Amino acid sequence: MTEWSAAEESLHGEMTERLDRRPWPARPLQAEVRVSFEFFPPATEVGGRRLHDVATRLVALDPAFVSVTYGAGGSTQSRTHDSLESLAAIAPRLAGHITCVGATRQGVHGVLDAYRSIGVRRVVALRGDDPGDGRPAVPAEGFADAAALVAAIRDRTDGSDWDISVAGYPEVHPKADSSAADVDSLRRKVDAGADRVLTQFFFDNESFLRFHERCRAAGISVPIVPGIMPVGDFDKVSRFGAGCGATIPEWMPQLFEGLAQAPDVHRLVAATVAAEQCRHLAEHGIGQFHFYTMNAADLTEATCRMLGVTPAAGSASVSDDLGDDLRDGTVA
Ligand code: FAD
Repeated sequence: MTEWSAAEESLHGEMTERLDRRPWPARPLQAEVRVSFEFFPPATEVGGRRLHDVATRLVALDPAFVSVTYGAGGSTQSRTHDSLESLAAIAPRLAGHITCVGATRQGVHGVLDAYRSIGVRRVVALRGDDPGDGRPAVPAEGFADAAALVAAIRDRTDGSDWDISVAGYPEVHPKADSSAADVDSLRRKVDAGADRVLTQFFFDNESFLRFHERCRAAGISVPIVPGIMPVGDFDKVSRFGAGCGATIPEWMPQLFEGLAQAPDVHRLVAATVAAEQCRHLAEHGIGQFHFYTMNAADLTEATCRMLGVTPAAGSASVSDDLGDDLRDGTVA
């Protein structure tokens, strides 16, 4: 047998270590991974039935919670409530999003009371986007930003009952003065009592991992959960990305080029991209993922399976225990 050179030995060691980290064949990850799912409130009856079916499939994966978005400025607010009410029959851990834009303090507390009346005690607390029509985004008698909203929730007589998530921006919020100011704004939300950070979607894992480090260096110790957007429609996701400051990496248009006409291939590529992204993050110790489902199940479910999250593994636990559903944000 020929002897290996030092360089070959080292390369072999490196490759073995890498294969250990990313096992082949693509079996489920061994570490415990938790997931959560975000839906939007449908505008039609058909959309409502579809959401019910999609949520039923995804709830079988035993998510830490599922959330329903809220239209800042009033567009979809009653639909959010209605969606939460109908999801309550199938999803044990529900979170309602809530925003400050266009709302008085009294109005915000009214929404929280309404959530509570249907058993929802989780919120994703947000400022919301400016309406862009020149009107002041937040009225004088409202909450100026998400940090003020979080503080107000904790100040309620039922303040400690709420589980509060807030938004974070791995690629910096487009209106933030600087990356440091953005992290400082996030720290204020966490200091005010947020339980975890859910991030804007991104495709550049390095930007998330750097953001994670910046947050930890700034003393933010709550879980920072990456927002994952499976690419159901590349053109649409590109437009969303441009609007919210999520970069579409150079390699991505090439992957999806021409696939608008080949939806089955588009889905296969999209599932692979999302699974690769999550498995790479998992290799770096990330153990929780928040999926922007766009009210569709297939891509999210496929990605969860690639993370080892399957109905069989999760079906045992459906309790609504606020304490242990999301631990420290990293794989044990
Ligand atoms: P804050 O925490 O108050 O601010 C975040 C950062 O943005 C800070 O750096 C702040 O200085 C800067 N900033 C925000 N607005 C301005 C401004 N006008 N001028 C200057 N700086 C500004 N939106 C909805 O309407 N409904 C939803 O349901 C919803 N869900 C979301 C869920 C997640 C997980 C995420 C990541 C975002 C969601 N959004 C939603 C979008 C969110 O409302 C916007 O990104 C909004 O602009 C900022 O909200 P925030 O809570 O992060 O704000």
